[in-house]
Amino acid sequence: MIKAIKGTRDILPPASAVWNHVEDVARRVFRAYNYQEIRTPIFEETALFARGVGEDTDIVSKEMYTFEDRDRDKTSLTLRPENTASVIRAYIEHRLDQQPGLQKLYYMGPMFRRERPQKGRYRQFYQIGAEVIGSESPAVDAEIIEIVVEILTRAGLDGFKLFINSVGCSTCRPKFVASLKEQLKEVAPRMCEDCQRRAETNPLRVLDCKVPEDQPIIEKLPSILDHLCEVCEKHFRYVKTYLDDRKIPYAIRPRLVRGLDYYTRTTFEVVHGALGAQNSVLGGGRYDGLAEMLGSKVHSPGIGFSIGEDRLVMAVEEARPDMLLHSADLFIAPMGEEELRHCAILARELRAKGICVELALGGKLKRLMEIANKIQARNVLIVGSDEIAAGTYTLKNMMTGEQESVNRAQLAEKLKN
Ligand SMILES: [Zn+2]
Ligand SMILES: [Zn+2]
Repeated sequence: MIKAIKGTRDILPPASAVWNHVEDVARRVFRAYNYQEIRTPIFEETALFARGVGEDTDIVSKEMYTFEDRDRDKTSLTLRPENTASVIRAYIEHRLDQQPGLQKLYYMGPMFRRERPQKGRYRQFYQIGAEVIGSESPAVDAEIIEIVVEILTRAGLDGFKLFINSVGCSTCRPKFVASLKEQLKEVAPRMCEDCQRRAETNPLRVLDCKVPEDQPIIEKLPSILDHLCEVCEKHFRYVKTYLDDRKIPYAIRPRLVRGLDYYTRTTFEVVHGALGAQNSVLGGGRYDGLAEMLGSKVHSPGIGFSIGEDRLVMAVEEARPDMLLHSADLFIAPMGEEELRHCAILARELRAKGICVELALGGKLKRLMEIANKIQARNVLIVGSDEIAAGTYTLKNMMTGEQESVNRAQLAEKLKN
């Protein structure tokens, strides 16, 4: 028997309803903020991610699905491990910088990373994200964080925590990294293997280490917030003020860093308790140097986020178990073949008015009522030749058990109430 590949999964009903819900909510929020969808290919040239995500990251060094194309030049292709690099590539390729105003783009879809399979981690996983390109203003940072909060709240999640930080810019960060490197010389030998290596190659990423034994050492390392230049300090101060204006609660987490040079200033993360150890629901940040890094001739500062949809769905399932209850508004039970023909037309009429109808194919009444119960239909309409002749039907409310006589014209209105 052929089964789904390790690290991938089928999303079946009723769980798929939660996915639909989360995606509907996100689309509505993006619409309200006037963001538009961008769809980029699932695979790209490997070089895009090597540059856009960073050679030194775990993603690029060990987790990408990379393969050679069969065409003559044997291009190296990679299934997208994330989507920001693709969005920026599209932005540059289609000269979106020449469009008026900011580019406000959102996406949703599958990403691929060859991670060790464990609960809540998948090799094909899903992200919902957005990118705003064309401004360095802290007002944009605050708006994008507001969008994140809106999506999570409207999806039904509460009790999540927002962490923010600033990672500085090309003026102030190198000085911080130098002083960090200096301090790491002393303590790195007592840290994990990754940290020992990063202490040399990319000291900022030491701050990101999740190994429990390293935490007491990391806590004593210098904070980037004490090293911000005047411009970055002001930018961060405004981000905080704008969040305060919006009454969006946050905590500052100086260790929330991004190890790559094109990340600048604001970074943020949202965690949620229901998700245990891997409790980060989303991450985001500003990347003022990324477009240039990927070949843009124009300075195109940007900021974005990506929500781990698999984890968000898991958290929503826990917070809103009612989401898993899907039921038809109406179950129509025709008593015979002639009645079925009549009911098919009736069902189409009601469906066109937005009513969710399950039309049975006929059979014994007892059996049909069993099905109606099993699928938890909210109402049942039994249709025999008498009902058709009279033009009125008996509508049974399955919650209350009440029955009433309803004519065809009233039916849709009744069901909507
Ligand atoms: Zn700075
Ligand atoms: Zn470590």
